[in-house]
Parts: sequence; structure tokens; C-alpha cells
Amino acid sequence: MAQSLAAFNTFGVEATCDNLFRFTSEQEIQDWLAGMPIPPKEFFVLGGGSNLLLLGHVPLTFLKADIQGVDYQESGDEVLVTAGAGVNWHDLVLDSIDKGYAGLENLSLIPGNVGAAPIQNIGAYGVELEQLFVSLNAVDLFSGEKRVFEHEACEFAYRDSVFKQRHRGQYMITSVTLRLRKKPELVLTYGPLSALKDRCDELTPADVSNEVIRIRQSKLPDPQKLGNAGSFFKNPVISKKAFKRLQTNYPEVVAYPVDDSHMKLAAGWLIDQCGLKGYRQGDAGVHQQQALVLVNHGDASGRDIVQLAGHVRDTVLAKFEVRLEPEVWIIGEQDIF
Ligand SMILES: Cc1cc2nc3c(=O)[nH]c(=O)nc-3n(C[C@H](O)[C@H](O)[C@H](O)COP(=O)(O)OP(=O)(O)OC[C@H]3O[C@@H](n4cnc5c(N)ncnc54)[C@H](O)[C@@H]3O)c2cc1C
Repeated sequence: MAQSLAAFNTFGVEATCDNLFRFTSEQEIQDWLAGMPIPPKEFFVLGGGSNLLLLGHVPLTFLKADIQGVDYQESGDEVLVTAGAGVNWHDLVLDSIDKGYAGLENLSLIPGNVGAAPIQNIGAYGVELEQLFVSLNAVDLFSGEKRVFEHEACEFAYRDSVFKQRHRGQYMITSVTLRLRKKPELVLTYGPLSALKDRCDELTPADVSNEVIRIRQSKLPDPQKLGNAGSFFKNPVISKKAFKRLQTNYPEVVAYPVDDSHMKLAAGWLIDQCGLKGYRQGDAGVHQQQALVLVNHGDASGRDIVQLAGHVRDTVLAKFEVRLEPEVWIIGEQDIF
């Protein structure tokens, strides 16, 4: 019987899947796989559902890693923290700060669970997961074997990893180990945090975390009140040559250098310049304050939101000749995006 996913996606859209199984240990997953006749290609691993857009009925069996537990191991100036895949990400951030460890403060208030964090190498306010990442444990859904992935094997990049590429859908991550510091090295380089630079010496990781929380709460809609999945599109990375061309027509274009030959454009700025901030198609809308966030004003379906996303992408392409790619996973019967 189809299982409702309405409570398992932060867009709050009605959707169903074939089945949903939940696991609280690695062994439970392995035992279940050993007796399961469903081909692994028909599985989808679910975390907190904060980076998904579900289209109607998803004809897959959903597997949810609810593995809990957080363990800290101090070693010299550092501490290794290992957290179960089902631990809420923000709870881990707060717990580590509470224990006096630094490193996760800029990543405060990102929704979702620990197990999903390496998938798109979550990042915010100048810090990406990969800067703290040591290793992860996973179960291969194809073979049932356990596997450890060290940093290099994850092939992290901007909102990307091997788990979105070659190993897409193959592994269920069961725990993640990160390297934190006892002595803070605060990162205050990015956007609004740079206003804190003058007070750098007196600030603690808790202060930075509180500031990140304050900024995020003032800018981003709370999914509990207005369904959304954060940034819908990735910030497009283009060559410096293409950027110079764009800058000729739009001198005020917002962008950040990535390396010697690439620039990252602010996708929200591109959407805003198309006059789409606050734009609505029924209950599917572009957020009034944050053009990069698509929202469900109430009764939008996954299909309504994907159609709006298509309109946004096409409008930006027509104006700037830059193609936006979704950051959100769009899954369902028919991927029309
Ligand atoms: C308001 C808001 C703000 C956000 N801000 C940010 C931000 O600043 N930076 C950022 O990077 N992201 C942000 N996001 C996106 C989202 O929070 C992250 O991508 C998060 O890591 C998703 O976690 P999740 O547990 O909800 O994953 P889900 O949405 O459930 O799944 C996301 C992907 O991870 C896979 N996955 C989940 N768990 C596992 C597992 N245990 N093993 C293997 N695969 C797994 C799923 O199959 C899917 O492919 C935001 C989202 C919202 C709603």
C-alpha cells in the first residue's frame, strides 16, 4: 500500500511512495537487505526531506536511516565527533558548541540530518562540510557490504560529491566523522558575518552561531510555516570570459571568484533581476525576500512547483544566457524539469 510522504518533505507537498522502512542500526539495514527481494535500483534513501521536491507518487521504496548517537574523541588540540545519520544536523552543531568545540558554528540552522550532509557537501557563510570532514560509514545497498569513505573518496565539490555522481543511490550513509577544534578559528569572511570582524578576538563559536541563526531567521522562510527546501537552484559557476561578457551588459552583476578561471554568480540576483521575486503561479511562488527560494503557499503540488522552477530557469536563460541547475532533488513518476 502506498505510503504518504507529506510529513517527510519540507515543501509540505502531498506525495506517496511504494513503501517506507526505517532503520536504527547498521546491522538492521544489512539484515533487511539480506532478506529483501526488491532490486536496489528501486530504493531511495530519505533523510529529513529538506532538499527534495516530490512529484506525486514516487514508485520507489524509501529507506530512512534513523541511527542516533554522538561520540566525541579528543586528541591534542582537536576532537573527532562521530554522529549517527539520523541525528538532526542543527542539534549536532549546538551540542558541539555547548561542549566547547569549534568548527560547525557557520553551519548553524541548516535543516536535515547528519547522513545527508556529505551528499551535497552542505555549506553556508564561507564554510563547507568538506573542510571538517574526516570519513563516513555507509552500507552498499547493492551488495549489503559496509564501506568506509575517507575524504578523498567522497570527491567533494561545490554542492556536490561522489554520492550525487558515480555512486548516486548506491549507499546509505550510517554515520559521519568530523574534525573539530578546541581553539576556535572563526571564519568571518562571508557577507554579513564580515561585520563581526572587528570583534574577532572577543567572539566565541556560540556568538557566531547565534549571529548565523539570527541572519538566517531574518532571511529564510521557516519550512514549518511556509513550505520550502532552501535554495532551489545552485549558484551557477561560469568561466571568467563569460563573466566579463555578462559584466559588460550588467556591470552590477553579483559574483564571487571560485578559482583563477571561474566565477560563481548569485542565482538569487539573476532571478531578482528578472522581476520574479514574489512571483506566483497559484500556490507555487518565488519567495518575497529570497528569490532563490521557491515556496509552497499552501496547496501547491510538486508538479506546480517544478513548473514554476521551469519558468524561472527559462526566464533567467532568456535574459542572461545562464542556465540554472536545481540544487534540490526532484523525484517522482515523471521528471519534467
Ligand atoms: C530553509 C532551508 C535552508 C537550507 N539552507 C541550506 C544551506 O545553507 N546550505 C546547504 O548546503 N543546504 C541548505 N538546505 C538544504 C538541506 O538542508 C541540505 O541539503 C540537507 O543536508 C538535507 O538534509 P536532509 O536530511 O533533509 O536530506 P533529504 O532532503 O532527505 O535528502 C537529500 C539527499 O540526500 C540523500 N540522503 C539523505 N540521507 C541519506 C543517507 N543517510 N545516506 C545516503 N543518502 C542520504 C537523499 O537520498 C537525497 O539525495 C536548506 C534547506 C532548507 C529547507
